[in-house]
Amino acid sequence: MIKIENLTFRYRESEEPALHDINLTIPDGTFVGVTGAAGSGKSTLTYALNGIIPHCYPGDFYGSVTVEGKDTCEVNLTDLSCVVGSVCQDIDSQMVASIVEDEVLYGLENFGVPHDEIPARVDQALADMGIADLRDRMIASLSGGQKQKVAIAAILAMNPKVLVLDEPTAELDPASSLSVFRLLERYARQHGTTVVVVEQKIALMAQFADMLVIMEHGGIRYAAAPAEVLAHSDDLLRIGVNCPRVTTLVNRLRADGVYAGPACRNVEEARDAVLEVLA
Ligand code: ADP
Ligand code: MG
Repeated sequence: MIKIENLTFRYRESEEPALHDINLTIPDGTFVGVTGAAGSGKSTLTYALNGIIPHCYPGDFYGSVTVEGKDTCEVNLTDLSCVVGSVCQDIDSQMVASIVEDEVLYGLENFGVPHDEIPARVDQALADMGIADLRDRMIASLSGGQKQKVAIAAILAMNPKVLVLDEPTAELDPASSLSVFRLLERYARQHGTTVVVVEQKIALMAQFADMLVIMEHGGIRYAAAPAEVLAHSDDLLRIGVNCPRVTTLVNRLRADGVYAGPACRNVEEARDAVLEVLA
């Protein structure tokens, strides 16, 4: 479980806190999607989970973050990184090898994984991300989507209990984005991994996440199931989060008292809602 209690963090060089009185409990195995306008504190929230704050960025840290019973302020980054695997926003700066297999091997060889376990772990991680066929490829020759899957596989090979990803699909086309989310979901369900993914595409997250967290000015505006959050499409728009147009449309029908069902996440759900209204 992840428990964030009364967390406020101010970067040393900033006047305002980047995170402001955050309280959030994430049960094991939850798939969490985080979104919010630029500068709302999404990346800083991921740093609170993987220990980059307070361990790497100096500043004022109040409150507590506990992951799997470990207080992130009290454990060192190496120990924490065995529990929380992170894929940062700039994967090119995160990747260390030039061949796919070496990238996946790197963490395993450097974090004391027993030698006889390594080959199976590499096979499994590549299979989990659907990239077994890329094993011998040069990373520089891969597409953006393939590279992202390599970066994720390298982290999954370490079997983290929690996986944190900061905008993994920012530079991917819709088909590759969907593919990354499908693979992440399948992996998380199979292994009971908690996934926290920062993502601008709220429609995509609403499809896969158990919980959506919407950030505004360093605070949490909403943390609830997707349909519950999407019911507030007007407010989301006001704070810079774009909902699917069909969600907004069906919410208007709800506001007008024409439709009483839940908010819709996609065209299919909206079609069913409209058919229900017309019936
Ligand atoms: P988001 O990921 O939602 O765009 P960030 O967490 O990156 O938001 O930023 C939240 C706030 O913290 C912003 O005001 C940003 O300028 C500030 N901030 C982010 N990183 C740093 C840093 N390393 N040093 C100082 N201020 C930072
Ligand atoms: Mg960010």
